[in-house]
Amino acid sequence: MTFPLIDTHCHLNHDGLREDIEGAVQRARAVGVIHVVIVSYDLSSSLEAVTIAEKLGAFASAVVGIHPTMAHTCNRDALTVLEQLAMHPKVVGIGETGLDLHYAMPPMQVQLQALHAQLELASRHSLPVVFHCRDAYPPLLAELKRYTPLGGVMHCWAGTPQEAQHSVELGLHLGFGGVATYKSAANVHQSAAECPVDRLVLETDAPYLAPVPQRGKPNEPSYIAYTAARVAELRGISAESLAHGTTQSAMTLYPRIAPMVQAALRG
Ligand SMILES: [Zn+2]
Ligand SMILES: [Zn+2]
Repeated sequence: MTFPLIDTHCHLNHDGLREDIEGAVQRARAVGVIHVVIVSYDLSSSLEAVTIAEKLGAFASAVVGIHPTMAHTCNRDALTVLEQLAMHPKVVGIGETGLDLHYAMPPMQVQLQALHAQLELASRHSLPVVFHCRDAYPPLLAELKRYTPLGGVMHCWAGTPQEAQHSVELGLHLGFGGVATYKSAANVHQSAAECPVDRLVLETDAPYLAPVPQRGKPNEPSYIAYTAARVAELRGISAESLAHGTTQSAMTLYPRIAPMVQAALRG
């Protein structure tokens, strides 16, 4: 038995997935996936995300932007192209942007400039923002306070339950992926159990971070079913009820996917 699921964050525009998009889509549909959001990390992946989303029709949409680790490429020319893409009918959000202080390359100041530019771009076009945050919850949350109320998602949630609550208070959704299935991720388990249902969305971040029992393999949108099952278990609810709730919250996160999702739900 399958229930309608939405992969709110995957990279079909990345090596390891772009070679067999048709196969990945077929396997995803087979487990109930009705829509995928293809997220970008630089200018060329942004253009590619839009092209793939166009080809996949109502099954896919695109988020365009520049990842914090690529922030040094977020120059005036890149922003001009992103500004154009933001008006494309398949584009439903801006990102992924944010802060990645794991290696802090490029330096935080450069990452912050790219973050601010993309927040302003998103606000000009009333688009939600996809935030990538690695080893940087306190500084990123402090930065985002200035932009409230915010529409967007902290993708691949890996923070503490307190940081989760703080993010929700800022207006954000939390994206739960493969990490929620890992045994050692106690903080993520607690966040997934406590997150208000209308702020909880599911994602794969494919080809990265495959859930148990596929951990270590290249991830793909169909594996979202494992994460859905684990998150439902953590919340003590049925898979059906989680699928229903997260489908609704994916549409509040990305309002522009709603017509595509509603068409899929009507069959
Ligand atoms: Zn990310
Ligand atoms: Zn990602």
